[in-house]
Amino acid sequence: MMTSKRLQEIPPSGTVAISNLVSKMKSEGADIISFSMGEPDFTTPSNIIDSCIDSLKDGFTHYTPSTGIPELRKAIADVTKKNNGIPCEASNVLVTPTKQALFMIALAYLNPGDEVLLPDPSWVSYEAHIRMVGAVPKYVTTSFDDGFVINPEKVQEAVTDKSKMIVINSPSNPTGCVQPESTLKGIADICIDNDMIALSDEIYEHIIYNGKHCSIASLPGMFDRTLTVSGLSKTYAMTGWRVGWLIAPEDDIKAVNKLQSHSITCCTSFTQTASVEAITGSQKDRDEMVATFKKRRDLALDLLSEIPGLECNVPEGAFYLFPKYDAKISSNELAEKLLMEGHVAVTPGRAFGPAGEGFFRMSYAASEEDIAAGIERMKKVFATL
Ligand code: GLU
Repeated sequence: MMTSKRLQEIPPSGTVAISNLVSKMKSEGADIISFSMGEPDFTTPSNIIDSCIDSLKDGFTHYTPSTGIPELRKAIADVTKKNNGIPCEASNVLVTPTKQALFMIALAYLNPGDEVLLPDPSWVSYEAHIRMVGAVPKYVTTSFDDGFVINPEKVQEAVTDKSKMIVINSPSNPTGCVQPESTLKGIADICIDNDMIALSDEIYEHIIYNGKHCSIASLPGMFDRTLTVSGLSKTYAMTGWRVGWLIAPEDDIKAVNKLQSHSITCCTSFTQTASVEAITGSQKDRDEMVATFKKRRDLALDLLSEIPGLECNVPEGAFYLFPKYDAKISSNELAEKLLMEGHVAVTPGRAFGPAGEGFFRMSYAASEEDIAAGIERMKKVFATL
């Protein structure tokens, strides 16, 4: 059947496509070590799982209010106000899977022809969402030499009278860069001066090793023009639970909730109750996971430094390395070679934007054994290039 022009214009998600391919190869018996998907390998902490089971046994298996259960909206608002300094209440929270929030934001705020600024490289689905609604992505290049920190002067140069929104993702997928507060202040000034919306994806906010997380919505004059999204997937190893949220002024929550009510109705009921436990319960497991990620980052950096022709920044957050390679092949070809010849899966840098060419993304949310064995496999493939 003929799909819409909108859909024809976008490729499938690069990250999900590789993960699907790896699953298929594994199910056919291939021994693949995967660093492709950005997903913690830990099991969700047991207090959260127990809370979900209790909720199911209590029969909490029906629709919830489309905005989310009141206890969870309040828990999210309380923790965000306290930790991020965003002046929000429960009425400023829409509970929804994080990717769904991003998709609904594109539908809710962008008209055909509107320009959206986004850092290059950045996560694969922002561009797809923008294109799908007929808006225009305008990349603002960031560089390896600057640690992928956004330069507000370059943002200013990219602004036109069609600029509607800027996407910020700190810590960043794929680079792990934590944007300094001074950078976010520069971007905030540009948003205010040019009447632009900031879309701040803070899904990796708790996975930070150095540097400090700053929410742009906490800066003066920004709450009213910022859509902040975050969620539980990465922080609590809950990728399969699909719980996240949007924080925004109340009228914006009402507006986006129209889309929620016409699409998924609400987030899954029993994962919402478990999410209250995730946010308000013990944070010991979360803190241990972050400490483990840091050890793995250091191990991976150490081992990668033994491969000639690779250079890597030391990322301050998230669980990705974004190494630069000097072999004269495209990042798609490199990822294919690593997978087919080395049986190790990474994501080609080009999937994250034009500036990602010449790089690959490695998720180190994998065991130390897999990191060591996978990098050994990479080394052999790089030796043939
Ligand atoms: N965000 C993760 C990644 O970049 C999961 C897949 C996706 O949503 O793209 O690998």
